[in-house]
Amino acid sequence: MKFFLFILLYFSSLYGEIQLIKKENADFNTTLLVIGGIHGDEPGGYFAASILATHYEIESKNLWIVPNLNQKSIQQNSRGIYGDMNRKFSAITENDSDKQTIEEIKKIILEEKVSLILNLHDGHGFYRKEKQGNIFNPNAWGQTCVIDQCKLKENQPFGNLDEIASLVKENLNKKLLKSHHSFDVRNTNTKFDDEAMQLSLTYFAVTNNKPAFAIESSKNLSSLSEKVFYQLLAIEEFMKIMDIKFTRKFDMNEKEINTIIEEYGFVSINNNISLNLKDIKNSLSFIPIKSTNNLFNFSSPLGAVEYSKGKIEIFIANKKLTELKPQYFKLSDSCPDTYKIEIDGNVTSVEKASYFFVNDDFKILKNDGVRVNVIGYYSKGVSNEEEILLKQSDMSESFSLDTLKKVYRVEFYKNDEFCTTLMVKFK
Ligand SMILES: [Zn+2]
Repeated sequence: MKFFLFILLYFSSLYGEIQLIKKENADFNTTLLVIGGIHGDEPGGYFAASILATHYEIESKNLWIVPNLNQKSIQQNSRGIYGDMNRKFSAITENDSDKQTIEEIKKIILEEKVSLILNLHDGHGFYRKEKQGNIFNPNAWGQTCVIDQCKLKENQPFGNLDEIASLVKENLNKKLLKSHHSFDVRNTNTKFDDEAMQLSLTYFAVTNNKPAFAIESSKNLSSLSEKVFYQLLAIEEFMKIMDIKFTRKFDMNEKEINTIIEEYGFVSINNNISLNLKDIKNSLSFIPIKSTNNLFNFSSPLGAVEYSKGKIEIFIANKKLTELKPQYFKLSDSCPDTYKIEIDGNVTSVEKASYFFVNDDFKILKNDGVRVNVIGYYSKGVSNEEEILLKQSDMSESFSLDTLKKVYRVEFYKNDEFCTTLMVKFK
C-alpha cells in the first residue's frame, strides 16, 4: 500500500465541561480515577494523565482519566485563572467561574464505581522531614505521596491510606533516576492541622469515604519528561496495588516519554480535514470550514481550540501550535468516501481526510463530479486540476502545511461545496 490512513482516536467524551476518558473491562467495579491539571501550571501531572489515556491498555478492572480538569488555566499556563481550584471543594460561591467544573468533578468522584482517586501535581522543592536549605525541607511538596489522614473507616477497600502511600514510596525509591529524587509520604493531617487542605479535592473525597491521594512530582526536576516519568511510575504502583493489569506502548524512560510529549498528534476538522500537528506551520490560510458549528477532534486529550479575531488557534496544553485563517464553505453531503489517485504510477483509492505518500509524482484521477484544487500548484486557466501529473518541484513551498515543506493540500469540491482535503506528503 502506498498510502497510509491515519486512524484517529477520539477522546471528546465530555462529561459536561469535563473530559472523562474511561478504559473499562466488563464485570469489574474496581476503578482508579486519575485527575490531571487541577493546577494549570503543573505539566508533569497533566502530561502523565494524557499519556495514560493514549499509551496504556487496561486489561483488567477499570481506569478513568480526567486529563485536564482546569483546561482554560492549562492553556494559559496559570495555576488558576479564576483562583486556586483546589481550594473550592468545601464551599464555592454561586458566581464562581469554576463552579460547574467543581460540581461535575465531585459527581465523578462520588460515583459508586470509583474506588481510589489520584490528584496529580507538580510541587515545589524536594520534601525532607529535616530542613536542608530552601529546596530540601519539610515545607516542600515535591516528590511526595500526600495523604490527608492515616486511614478511612474500617473495612473500606483501599482505606489504609498510610500503608498504601508507604508501599508506593518504597517501590518508587527503587527506581530513582538520581538519589536526591527520593519520594516520601507527606501526611497533612488535614482534619486537625491544615485548614487550607480542608478545602481540597482529596479531602472532599476522604470525607466521603473515597480513598484519595495526591502525587507530587517536583517542579525542581530538570525536565518535563522527568516529572512525567515519576508521575507514571507512581500511577503504575497504584495500579499494581489495585490489581489493575495494564500494558504500555513504550519503554519507561525519559527519552521515550519526551518523544511522546512532543508528538502532538492530529486534529480532525468536521471529519473531512486531518492535520498532523507535528512540524505544522504557525499560520495556515484559506482553511475550508463552516461559518459556525465546526467539529474539532484531537488525538491528544490536551488539544483545544480558541477562536480569536476571526482565526482559530490550535493548542496542545499551553502551546499554540498554529492558527487557521478560515474560508467559509457549505459542506457538501454527496461526496465520495474514497478518491482515485495515481501515486508513482500505481492507481489506488484514498480515504477522505487522509494522508498519502509520494516518492516521485502523483495524479488525481477523475472522481465523479468532483472538482480538484491542489493548493500550491497553479496552472493558468485551469479550474479543475485533475489528470495532471505533479511533482514536488511543481509545488510552491509557501503553500506547504509543514515547516519541512513536504506536505501539501489537495482539496475536493462538489458544486462549490466543500468535500474533503487529502494531504500529499513527498518523501
Ligand atoms: Zn498543584
